[in-house]
Amino acid sequence: MKQRYTILLLLSLFLLLPQLRAEDPADEIIDIVVLNSYHPTFQWTRDITQAIVDEFGHDSRFRISIEHMDTKRFHLPRHLQANVQYYREKYHSIEVDALLCSDNHAFEFALQHGNDIWGQVPVTFCGVSNITDYDIDSTRYKGIREDLNYRATLELIATLQPELEELIVLSDSTLSGQLFSRLFEETAKTMPIDFTYRIIHATDAEKVGAQLCTLNPKNKAIYLLSLYLPRNGATREIIQEAEFLRECLDVPIYGNWDFLFGDFIAGGMVLKGYDQGQAAARLLRARLESERDTLPFLSSVPEYLITDYNVLQRYNLHNTPLPKGSQQINRPENYWQKNQQEIVVVGLTLGFLMVVIMVLLHLLARHRQMEQALKKSENRLEMALEGARIGLWDVDMKQKTLFINSWVATHLNYDDTEMATFHLKNWERNVHPDDQPQLQEAFDMHKKGITPTLDGEARLRTAEGGYKWFSLHGKLISRGEGEEQRMIGILIDIEIQRQFEEQLRRAKERAEESDRLKSSFLANMSHEIRTPMNAILGFSDILLQERNDPTDSQKFLQLIRSSGESLLALINDIIDISKIESGQFSLNLTLFDLHALLSKLEHLAHTLMDQKHKNLRFHIHKGSLSTKLMMEGDPFRIEQILTNLISNAIKFTQEGSITLSYQLEDENLLTFSVKDTGKGIAPEHHQLIFERFRQINPHESSNMGGTGLGLAITKSLVQLMGGDIQVKSQKNQGATFLFRLPCKIYL
Ligand code: ADP
Repeated sequence: MKQRYTILLLLSLFLLLPQLRAEDPADEIIDIVVLNSYHPTFQWTRDITQAIVDEFGHDSRFRISIEHMDTKRFHLPRHLQANVQYYREKYHSIEVDALLCSDNHAFEFALQHGNDIWGQVPVTFCGVSNITDYDIDSTRYKGIREDLNYRATLELIATLQPELEELIVLSDSTLSGQLFSRLFEETAKTMPIDFTYRIIHATDAEKVGAQLCTLNPKNKAIYLLSLYLPRNGATREIIQEAEFLRECLDVPIYGNWDFLFGDFIAGGMVLKGYDQGQAAARLLRARLESERDTLPFLSSVPEYLITDYNVLQRYNLHNTPLPKGSQQINRPENYWQKNQQEIVVVGLTLGFLMVVIMVLLHLLARHRQMEQALKKSENRLEMALEGARIGLWDVDMKQKTLFINSWVATHLNYDDTEMATFHLKNWERNVHPDDQPQLQEAFDMHKKGITPTLDGEARLRTAEGGYKWFSLHGKLISRGEGEEQRMIGILIDIEIQRQFEEQLRRAKERAEESDRLKSSFLANMSHEIRTPMNAILGFSDILLQERNDPTDSQKFLQLIRSSGESLLALINDIIDISKIESGQFSLNLTLFDLHALLSKLEHLAHTLMDQKHKNLRFHIHKGSLSTKLMMEGDPFRIEQILTNLISNAIKFTQEGSITLSYQLEDENLLTFSVKDTGKGIAPEHHQLIFERFRQINPHESSNMGGTGLGLAITKSLVQLMGGDIQVKSQKNQGATFLFRLPCKIYL
């Protein structure tokens, strides 16, 4: 309960606080009376008043009362008395805190009646020209200096009108007017001026007008100090008078009041009413706010040396150089001055845009340069790769994309790169199955970091489904721990190299085989030579002993002869093969009877079979029933071919039969065959047996007496005659040798 009361008490105190504050004596309203000499429509007075209102008007601590004595128009003692009466009545019950007087009349009124009407309040003044004339208390009375600068104005007149002969100084008979003319004269006297001056104290406008009209305007000027004249019963504004004056004497007019400027005043050192009012108001505020008044008795305001461009033009004074620091009004603005702000904004914007464009252009140029350099280097690389027969590939395992250069496409026989990329995407499927394990192993090793690069050789599938050898080299580029990777590498076409290697390998094998065959041939040869030679030498020795039985001798001689013949046959074979190899072999073509040749071969076959004690049947199948078959050819070589085939047939046949036959294909082609029922030849040896020194089973063959040259010579002879030879046989199923012989047959 107690707590609630406390809160309520605090709340009410808080709400009452603003009211309490309002009663603070420091926040009391300060009453200021502004006393103007002239009426509110007089520009000078209006400017002063406006400045005072601007200074205090927005501050609620001050209350301003503005009074206009209107002494320009009502300056008689009874007017003054009426004002005294009025103000006394008005301010009887108001406690005024300060008085601000503008211009001499108001100031003098304050001096005379101020204490009586407003009390002994501080007085601040402005617009008082002859302030030094008054003997006043400078602590109570403080104000703004209002010294008309006659000297500067006279200097300006002398500068603008060096030819000036007479200056007419116009002033009225008001307090201010008399004061201005006096001060002017005091200044003019101290100055070295080349012209005369005439001071006119005007009391009547018509009179002044009449006086001015009599003057010659040449080399004259008017200095207008003050001109409030009654005309037609009313006091007119100075500005209206000036217009009238110009009609009477059309010469340049100079003056010191800023409100006169704008139309007809040529120039002068100017005081501004607003400056006076503002300075006085600020001085008053300072006096009211500062506890110890240390402010000076008189404060200054700026003054301005002003000329009017239009007026100077009118009187042809515009060519004279203007004094330094002077201002000129009504000067027509050139395009630049008129649009200065817009031009600056547009200029800055354009400048900024230019800079941006320049920067962009620069960046663009750099980008282009870089692009060109890149293109150039790409081209160079592409050409270098092309020249080096190297392809480029790039597999992004994350994006599942493949890049290959045109070289790869071309070398895998694809028409365009896109097609090739599409087909090659599944990399493994395009590697020959035999090469995949080796390539996979190389890849795994590289992935594990065992090898710095992937290196391998593999056959890659071509567009047609064939394979070509390439050497593959690449490197994995990892994007970070556990990230999918990318692999870039090259391909080198090693197809030719591989073929060459294959050829070399085969050639090596052949050389080794040939070497082996030659060794075997030599072994056979020595055996083949030694056997008959042993027989010849052995039987010759026996014959030389002279104790021989003549029958035995006969038999031995037979054996010697047959051994000699064997030797001769062997030597003939060697001679034949070497002649064939060296290309010195030639055919002797004659007309002969094939049937006669066949009969001779039949006889030979029987002899051989007898010699080898073989119980074989020998058949001849002739292709023609006529007794003779005349043909053109080399009978000796044909006999040699057939002898070879028949003797081989006898050699490799243990039982059964041997059949020699021929067919007449046409009058230009004969087909021979020698068929046996012997051991036969496995199909894989069908080519082999026609090679030189080739024997399927050398040991067995050499036992049977052979050099491995027979079929090689036979084949060479058939080919020399323009024919060809082949064998048809299976192992243990006999053999048939067939050869075709192009020849001229005479039927
Ligand atoms: P060779 O002098 O050793 O008989 P050839 O060149 O005449 O040499 O024969 C080569 C090989 O061909 C023989 O060693 C033999 O193995 C095989 N050959 C030739 N003719 C026959 C055949 N009619 N039957 C079975 N094998 C044969």
